[in-house]
Amino acid sequence: MKLIASAAEMRAIPRSTEFRNGGVSFWYREQGLPERRAPLPGSADYDVCIVGAGYTGLWTAYYLKKAQPDLRIAILEREFAGFGASGRNGGWLSAEFAGSRERYAESHGKGPMIALQRAMMASVDEVIAVAEREGIDADIVKGGMRTVATNSAQEARLLEEIAYLQEWGYWPEDIYLLDPGHEPALQVAGAVAAAFSPHAARIQPAKLATGLARVVEALGVDIFEDTAVTEITPRTGREHPSAVTPGGTVRAEHIIRATEGFTSSLAGQRRQWLPMNSSMIATEPLDARTWERIGWSGREVLGDAAHAYVYAQRTADDRIAIGGRGVPYRFGSAHDANGATQPQAIAELWRALVRLFPAAAEAPVAHAWSGVLGVPRDWCPTVHVDHAEGLGWAGGYVGSGVSTSNLAGRTLRDLVLRRTTELTRLPWVGHRVRGWEPEPLRWIGTQVIYGLYRTADRRESDRVSQTSGFADLAAKISGR
Ligand SMILES: Cc1cc2nc3c(=O)[nH]c(=O)nc-3n(C[C@H](O)[C@H](O)[C@H](O)COP(=O)(O)OP(=O)(O)OC[C@H]3O[C@@H](n4cnc5c(N)ncnc54)[C@H](O)[C@@H]3O)c2cc1C
Repeated sequence: MKLIASAAEMRAIPRSTEFRNGGVSFWYREQGLPERRAPLPGSADYDVCIVGAGYTGLWTAYYLKKAQPDLRIAILEREFAGFGASGRNGGWLSAEFAGSRERYAESHGKGPMIALQRAMMASVDEVIAVAEREGIDADIVKGGMRTVATNSAQEARLLEEIAYLQEWGYWPEDIYLLDPGHEPALQVAGAVAAAFSPHAARIQPAKLATGLARVVEALGVDIFEDTAVTEITPRTGREHPSAVTPGGTVRAEHIIRATEGFTSSLAGQRRQWLPMNSSMIATEPLDARTWERIGWSGREVLGDAAHAYVYAQRTADDRIAIGGRGVPYRFGSAHDANGATQPQAIAELWRALVRLFPAAAEAPVAHAWSGVLGVPRDWCPTVHVDHAEGLGWAGGYVGSGVSTSNLAGRTLRDLVLRRTTELTRLPWVGHRVRGWEPEPLRWIGTQVIYGLYRTADRRESDRVSQTSGFADLAAKISGR
């Protein structure tokens, strides 16, 4: 896999006349960017103040308000609800949980880690159930998840992964190797093996985010948009913790930080979670003949077993949307401008699209975009509330936050309300980790890690039959 695309290669990528790069994401193209809600009008007091209106913030508000309707809750959002990864992702509502199972088991034991995995599976169904109950139409289809191996090293890794997951909470019916004649068929070029898990659904991410915001607002939560929090301060003596914005300060019993990949822009949080980029492209709708050749009538979400893996879905209007790491990290934790991605990320994703689906090689690319996700130093997500300081947070989901944020929202509800429940006993609760190294080490480290992963993928596709040592080295350096 090449990282740098030549000008000739870039020109060879078919693009529709309406091609756009950025505009937050393709997911807003059909519904348009939402009209912005009013900003915070001035300083105010609340019971709970949530910073960030992505899935984490919205789910937390939703479950808190459902549990205790008289709670006064405010959400402060720098842009608009669903502006971040929640309105840009690949739409995999899956039971995948990032983070080392062994690391959580070290502190809590294996049983609780297995309980966490089962809770993730239940979260997939919980999101679907709430969407249905609350009238949120997010194009949800629970077609499961298929992971394909396209060379023998990937196949060996896939088999190991299945065996490994079956040690950690997946029962044999939760993930298994597909037999080649499996229906409904999905033709992925070069696939030598495929695994399947029923615990995943395809969603339209922005519809979930904007629908959830509407529901939360209707429950009586105040959402203030165009309201950037510059600093979060803990309780001091009798002073409540606060969220400081240029337009006023919100004081509350609890302030919950739900800023994921943007966390590094808050005062004092620069090295907390590394903002990792993920980029996507979406094609124009494919015609019926092309779909006949590809199949994919089950709408399962699809990924490969490469180290620099890709993730894809067949959208409700019959496009292929495919994503991957692209350029993983920008120097100094910098962010994209309104979702625009780099040309080489577009080229890399298009190459992956054509490699997996040669039948779609002529399909013009309609849209490209990117977003940021939060990566903790040990790649392990966390949810936490400190009652003494009055501060809480959830995030660091790496690339698997669509379902995890729902579990986080329900867990934050229980923690804020001081309830001891099955959720608050899960091993990611209260997990702490040191920050990332300062620059330029952070930038150099991520370049080296993803360079090694790409080299490993290249060697494996050149017929190395086992996982390349370059990948082992990358895993060691990254601290995964
Ligand atoms: C391209 C891409 C593809 C992905 N694909 C998948 C997938 O298929 N499946 C999956 O499970 N996960 C996926 N993820 C990850 C998943 O989308 C995220 O983990 C999840 O959406 C995180 O939700 P969140 O609410 O914690 O963060 P976000 O959605 O990023 O929300 C954070 C919010 O905080 C706001 N904010 C930031 N700073 C401030 C501030 N100072 N003041 C006020 N507001 C602030 C932001 O504007 C934003 O709206 C993907 C991520 C990306 C970027």
